[in-house]
Amino acid sequence: MEVKDCPVCGAKSFKEVFKAPFFRGDGELFAIKECTSCAFWVTSPRPNDEDLGVYYEAGNYISHTSKKESLIDHLYVAVRNYSLKRKLSLINKVNKGVGDLLDYGAGTGHFLTVAKSAGWKTEGVEISGDARAVAEKENKLSLVSPEEFKWSSTYDVVSMWHVLEHLPGLNEHLAKFSKALNKNGALVVAVPNHESYDAKVYGESWAALDVPLHLYHFKKNNVEKLALKHGLVMEAVHNMPFDSFYVSMLSEKVATGKGNIIRAFFRGWQSNRKGRKAKNMSSLIYILRKSN
Ligand SMILES: [Zn+2]
Repeated sequence: MEVKDCPVCGAKSFKEVFKAPFFRGDGELFAIKECTSCAFWVTSPRPNDEDLGVYYEAGNYISHTSKKESLIDHLYVAVRNYSLKRKLSLINKVNKGVGDLLDYGAGTGHFLTVAKSAGWKTEGVEISGDARAVAEKENKLSLVSPEEFKWSSTYDVVSMWHVLEHLPGLNEHLAKFSKALNKNGALVVAVPNHESYDAKVYGESWAALDVPLHLYHFKKNNVEKLALKHGLVMEAVHNMPFDSFYVSMLSEKVATGKGNIIRAFFRGWQSNRKGRKAKNMSSLIYILRKSN
């Protein structure tokens, strides 16, 4: 389906940036288009909502498994464990202590497990039945599907770690998240940043484009504008320094067909060096505070 209206500004005119490959699967090309008014990037045309699941299956989507096979998978798991602690200390700081937390797109529940043991009252939503089963079995967490989830409670923090870019109905979701926040609550959102150095170097091979699973491709001013539409103020932006390395490793594979670890490491390091001060690394965490 073709994206007709820009989800950020509502304009109806787009120009093609490039075509990127479905690197998790058969390499099918998907166009990335830029809004000619606000420069927001969308994957367009993209699969219909009901066809997206096929691409997740074909891509053997790693975020939902705990399997450790290749070196990249090992690295992914090691980095994830370290990052969990950093995410916890971030939400503690954002909320000035523990409180009520909703993790939307909770995967296999690793983050909620860490938050729960630190004293947060936790709830989690996850679309994948397989991931929910792993969460139950390995982490003793019961997550609910988006269909089952009742938007009846409110939370101090709603977190989404690399989830927002996957959700059809961007504005509909943001409206729900904003409504689900307590007064002064915060939406904590991690998404890739296509203004980073690694994104620019790899272009259409940049793995964090991850088409067609990623429906939108964010940069800071898009997020700020989008948040304001839903009564949320961009209070802070944080770099995610490990993503640059992981994404560069994957991108080397997309670009050349094999992993060049040395070059990937160098690119990741360069991206972090250039992005550190400007908050412009490969992935960013946005703190979006409810303003009313
Ligand atoms: Zn726009």
